[in-house]
Parts: sequence; structure tokens; C-alpha cells
Amino acid sequence: GHGYVAGDVADVCEVKTADGHTLRALGVIVTVPIGVLREDNTTESRIEFDPPLSQEKRDAIKFLGGGCHNKVCMRFKRRFWQPTVRFFNTTQEAFQFMNLHAFDPDHCRNILVAHSFGAYKWDGKSDQQVLDEVMGVLRAMFTRSRCGEAGETAGERIAKTIEPPIQWVVTRWDTDPFSLGSYAFWKKGGRALEDNVALSSPEPFSHDNSQRSKVFFAGEATSAFGAQCVHGAAHSGVRAASEVVASVFNMTHLHPTWAGDDSDEVMEWRDKLLD
Ligand SMILES: Cc1cc2nc3c(=O)[nH]c(=O)nc-3n(C[C@H](O)[C@H](O)[C@H](O)COP(=O)(O)OP(=O)(O)OC[C@H]3O[C@@H](n4cnc5c(N)ncnc54)[C@H](O)[C@@H]3O)c2cc1C
Repeated sequence: GHGYVAGDVADVCEVKTADGHTLRALGVIVTVPIGVLREDNTTESRIEFDPPLSQEKRDAIKFLGGGCHNKVCMRFKRRFWQPTVRFFNTTQEAFQFMNLHAFDPDHCRNILVAHSFGAYKWDGKSDQQVLDEVMGVLRAMFTRSRCGEAGETAGERIAKTIEPPIQWVVTRWDTDPFSLGSYAFWKKGGRALEDNVALSSPEPFSHDNSQRSKVFFAGEATSAFGAQCVHGAAHSGVRAASEVVASVFNMTHLHPTWAGDDSDEVMEWRDKLLD
């Protein structure tokens, strides 16, 4: 929840949580989405940093957007579409459909996912209104696609028999206070990859190693080669963990694959860590 990270209390960091707990540690890894870090975030997820983040970091936060990509996941009682076609598209731009049934009919039986990107936002609409729009598009698509086969009357009849889903979920990643966006993008006027790199650098950041870094950053937006994606988020976690180890043990170099390395040197580090 609403938190507070202090990087300058003796040699430790303090994290104060919204429910009144204080945690102390030699290092803290911040992995919240870029939207949560924004200075204008006034929701319950807001985090205050003391001392404040460097100007470079704040610039990076300003020039990386959160983006909007949402989904409506729907499980139907009866499948009314072709079982093996993976994607359905239409000239209606708000929704693009993924047929999960085709990917895994055993576990995703009769499930369609409507993807919706950036330009179409459903803030202000209820979940039911969003679902009604999706169903309207599906009915229109399947009416037309069957017309060629069976004639207009039969096509319309098929569309009318498409029943609403028996289970459904509407995501709201752009407005959910703990996401405030779907994944990072480069804003106009920013420095592109350099912003991802600046976001990833630890704080306080000293080019000459004169100060020990205590607050570290991970998450997809901090990844220079995998931003927006799960693999970028995962790799950034490994990178940040390595930075913490290097900072705590005052090491300038860390074996990049130390986790799978059983050399004496790495074993010594591991024992220290486990202590
Ligand atoms: C619709 C959609 C489709 C996608 N499709 C793909 C795809 O096909 N392939 C792909 O690789 N990636 C895809 N992604 C992107 C992928 O989901 C993300 O890149 C990845 O989940 C990011 O992981 P993360 O750990 O950086 O952030 P997150 O998974 O967002 O984790 C951040 C965590 O921080 C928590 N948090 C937020 N604020 C606070 C706070 N103040 N205090 C404590 N905790 C907080 C949140 O609750 C959350 O658990 C998609 C994303 C969306 C939204």
C-alpha cells in the first residue's frame, strides 16, 4: 500500500507501510509498475522516497508511459466459432479476438479473449457495458462471416443464437491503482532506451562508487532488452538481486551467472548471504 522508502537511515533502508509497519533492510528492491512511480500518482499505491529520487530517475519516470492494454476474457457454454483458428480480427478497431480454445482445448475450453489497445479506453463504462460492446462486435462478425455460406437470413439467425458468456472478466490495468498502466512505452521527447537504463540504476547513484546504493529497481520498465515483457521483468529481478549483493558486500563485479556457479569464491559469497 501507500509506502515510504528512506535510503539514508544509518546504513539501512526503512520501508514504512500504509498499515503502520516499519521494515529495515540493507537494500530495498522497488518493482512497482512505471505508472505507480509517477509523481502525479495520488492513489493508494503512491510511494514517497526520502531522500527524493535523483533528477535523472525522475526524468526517466516522466518519459516512460504506462500504456493501456486490456482484455475481456469470456467462457461460453457453447462454442460458436471455428475451433482451430487462433485469432479473429475485424474492421472494428476496439477489439481483437484471441481464441484460447485453439491454444489449449483441454484447459481453455470455449474461451475467447478480446484484446483492446491504447486508443479505446473503457474508463467510465461498467463491466456489463464493456461486455455488451464486445458481444455486439462478435455477433456482427459471425453474422457476416456465415452470410456467405448460408445466406443472410441464416447468418442473422446464427448471430442471434450467440448467448452471453457464462463467466467473464473485464481487466482495468490502466486505472487499477496498483498498475496504472499495462506496460511501459517511450514517450515523445524522451530518451527511449536511455530512460529504461536510467530507471534501472540504483539510488543513491554515484559514478565513483563513493556512496553505497541502497534502493534498487526492477520490473519490465527497467529492462533495456525486454521492456514491456515478462522475460524483461524476470531478468531485471536477477540483475537487481546481483546489484544488492554487490552493494552489501562492497563488490564492484559480480559473476553474472553466480547462481549456477559452485566455485569456492561464489560458495563463499553464498555462505555470507545465508548468514
Ligand atoms: C493485457 C496485457 C497483455 C500482456 N501480454 C504480454 C505478452 O503477451 N507477453 C509478455 O511477455 N508480456 C505481456 N504483458 C506484459 C507483462 O504482463 C508485464 O511486462 C509483466 O507482468 C511486468 O512484470 P513486473 O513484475 O514488472 O510488474 P507487475 O507484474 O505489474 O508487478 C508489479 C507488482 O507491484 C505491486 N504494487 C504496485 N504498487 C505497489 C505498492 N505501492 N506497494 C506494494 N506493491 C505494489 C502490484 O500489485 C504488482 O503485484 C501484458 C500485459 C498486459 C496488461
